[in-house]
Amino acid sequence: MERHERQLFVNGAWVAPASGRYLEDVDPATGQVFAEAADAGPEDVERAVAAAAASMAERRWLGMDPLERSRVLHRIAEGIRQRQEDLAALISQENGMPITFAQWLEIPMAADVFDYFAGLVAQVRGHTLPFSLPGPQGDYLVLTLKEPVGVAGLITPWNFPLLMPSWKVAPALAAGCSGILKPAPETPLAALALAEITAEAGVPEGVLSVLTGGDEAGAALVAHPAVEKIAFTGETATGSRILTAAAPQIKRVTLELGGKSPNIVFDDVDLDEAVSGALFGLYLNAGQVCQAGSRILVQESVYDTFVERLRERVEGLRVGPGPDPTTDVGPVVSGRQLERVLGYVEAGRAEGARLVTGGRRLEALGPGFFLEPAVFAGVAPGMRIAQEEIFGPVSAVLPFKDEEEAVAVANQTLYGLAAGVWTRDVKRALRVVRGVKAGTVWLNTYQVLSPTAPFGGYKRSGLGRDLGPDALEPYLETKTVVVDLNDQALSFF
Ligand code: NAD
Repeated sequence: MERHERQLFVNGAWVAPASGRYLEDVDPATGQVFAEAADAGPEDVERAVAAAAASMAERRWLGMDPLERSRVLHRIAEGIRQRQEDLAALISQENGMPITFAQWLEIPMAADVFDYFAGLVAQVRGHTLPFSLPGPQGDYLVLTLKEPVGVAGLITPWNFPLLMPSWKVAPALAAGCSGILKPAPETPLAALALAEITAEAGVPEGVLSVLTGGDEAGAALVAHPAVEKIAFTGETATGSRILTAAAPQIKRVTLELGGKSPNIVFDDVDLDEAVSGALFGLYLNAGQVCQAGSRILVQESVYDTFVERLRERVEGLRVGPGPDPTTDVGPVVSGRQLERVLGYVEAGRAEGARLVTGGRRLEALGPGFFLEPAVFAGVAPGMRIAQEEIFGPVSAVLPFKDEEEAVAVANQTLYGLAAGVWTRDVKRALRVVRGVKAGTVWLNTYQVLSPTAPFGGYKRSGLGRDLGPDALEPYLETKTVVVDLNDQALSFF
């Protein structure tokens, strides 16, 4: 089925938005509009939710043999792989992501996520359980059934235009839910490509709709009474608004939110390896990564050397358009994001941190949203650049004295998404792992994720987990079935 970029994918068909409104899709390397996408409104949400509810009522998806559902998810994975080249070109233009990174990770991992959850389809199962009731009448059979929670609203950000939707769509489908994907307005096209791939793979009509659109479409999904579950990835402030909006209906909500993750470097490590890890940990995808190691904590004795080597490596990064295979760091996604990052560079300076390198707009590269990757040293833990999520290529390097101070500073944040620890001392490494409040802790590495392992945040970084076996549970309800095996039915009165 051919994809129509200016349309919505609802109930297995490409349709125009009810409002007739369209979003501009801006190429961040040029600042120019290069495509348009439909701007879904409440009427479109209504149509998609009705289609999803009907597909569930008719058991179009859940009624299918589980191994066939599993094969459908594997076919989605294959469909993604077959379109790797087109998707990489699209995402590198739409998002500014370096094409080499899209080819290496964004696209293959999205496919792997579908393969992983394909394997979980047949693992959706309950238990038989013992049962205890005071008195003589104790012969009962008890079992639990796992059932899909219902229609799921899947709301995603722009930083990984295909991968973030795959983290939501794959577990929702594996659990037997029908879903409505609402991608970020900055990156609508990769999600539409996914709609096309799912339809070709055999996902029945209405089971997955894709509504491109802005915040209003997301809010309408959250407010809709027939949407039983919201799975959201995005900013912490938006997550908080969604929780509030979902509260009156006691909607099931999972949230993957922002971070200000510490990457802690002790003085016993190979410093060049740690510098490489910090570089990869922050400047990947121009710092627009939720788990970015944006607070680099370095032990005092190696602090100056570390900062100097990091400066050299950062100055060696090639900034350029996403589609250029020699680009290390692409533009940030939008003019708004550019202004936000520049605002933080100003804030860092104003608070007395030392800008070691970068931090200016790269006007020589044209009107696109290019920034010189930046390093701040002499950062104090309470400064805004050490507390707030910048979501750009700007690192804050903080000194620490000893292990106790490192853990205290690492935890001095409202966030708790991830952390890195660089040391050769096993006991210290494990003490720090235990001490740091974060959903993922990397030892002598950073950023690496796998579809098989849970990912999510402590504190204000989220609620629930994406990926791994834990990711399925929030899309399921547990039904306890109690069967009376006694000769006579219970009668208390
Ligand atoms: P955002 O919160 O602005 O938007 C995310 C999505 O929510 C978009 O689709 C948007 O249209 C929608 N939305 C906005 N307001 C809404 C509302 N009131 N109700 C329903 N939907 C609404 O985030 P962004 O700028 O697109 O993405 C960047 C953020 O995402 C960063 O904070 C980053 O840390 C976070 N992120 C987190 C993870 C994670 O796994 N924890 C992964 C990637 C990105």
